[in-house]
Amino acid sequence: MVVILKENPDKQQLNKLVKWLESLHLKTHLSEGAQQSILGVIGDTSVVDIELIQALDIVEDVKRIQEPYKNANRKFHPADTVIDLGTCKIGGGNFALIAGPCSIESEEQILGVARAVKAAGARVLRGGAFKPRTSPYAFQGLRDEGIKLLLEAKKATGLPVVTEIMDLSQLPLFDEVDIIQVGARNMQNFELLKALGRVRKPILLKRALAGTLQELLMSAEYIMAEGNEQIILCERGIRTFETYTRNTLDLSAVPALKTLSHLPVIVDPSHATGISRLVPPMALAATAAGADGLIIEVHNDPAHARCDGPQSLTPEAFADLSKRINHILEVR
Ligand code: PEP
Ligand code: MN
Repeated sequence: MVVILKENPDKQQLNKLVKWLESLHLKTHLSEGAQQSILGVIGDTSVVDIELIQALDIVEDVKRIQEPYKNANRKFHPADTVIDLGTCKIGGGNFALIAGPCSIESEEQILGVARAVKAAGARVLRGGAFKPRTSPYAFQGLRDEGIKLLLEAKKATGLPVVTEIMDLSQLPLFDEVDIIQVGARNMQNFELLKALGRVRKPILLKRALAGTLQELLMSAEYIMAEGNEQIILCERGIRTFETYTRNTLDLSAVPALKTLSHLPVIVDPSHATGISRLVPPMALAATAAGADGLIIEVHNDPAHARCDGPQSLTPEAFADLSKRINHILEVR
């Protein structure tokens, strides 16, 4: 339920309303906008007499929210959420390029790629240390050592870093990581989501291989229900009958999610296509569709990458793409 408040509501009356709602075991969330403030109410709101609230001096309107996601809902929080990383912002008109290798392989590799993508305009460095691989015999990532190397690259370049967590036991290693990624395979690992809701760091939440937009938003809701409101949603392609591409990029997810939610939405054209030649056109299309950023795999030597070489751009191709993205940003 949302209570739309009149301009400059009387603070005492507002406090009284909040206390009353909380006495009914409901949670409240105040979203203060420049023009309008909204009091979101979560819980079993069937116990509330809407007419009673509607009659209050400070109240403009009251509406029930049909969707099962509340905190993530734009009706709850009309203004865009902006993720502030200090060196850059994501969302609310701020676009960020995130780039780096699928997996961290060596100090030389991650440092080289980090410097190259920074020079080309990337604002965040990606790199996997814990890798979710289909085969248990495939390279599983450098794990703890990978995080260490990623943090060295952060120190050397000043770029904030994003890397994937696969299990709660890995969390202590993420102290200096700027954004924690929840991969597609873990989108519905609800215990992991709840625990990340208690972390005070942005979470990059990727859409599951067969996850609907509502399921993605419900996963964001799991994190937000525990108090962490800093979430970046990521469309990374879904499983369809098409086998030419690794996945099928659902570009309409971008404007759809941005209508349904206030959370920033980024696109991963690398995992969506699986083919490096298709990454630039899809990156440009995603930018035109209104994405708040892109996450792109870049490798210094894609032919010899230990993971996802076929979809990785060279630093040169990334630099060329970055310029073209800027042209789209100028006109969108
Ligand atoms: C990744 O970003 O390296 C990754 C494994 O992505 P996804 O979870 O989207 O497959
Ligand atoms: Mn990858």
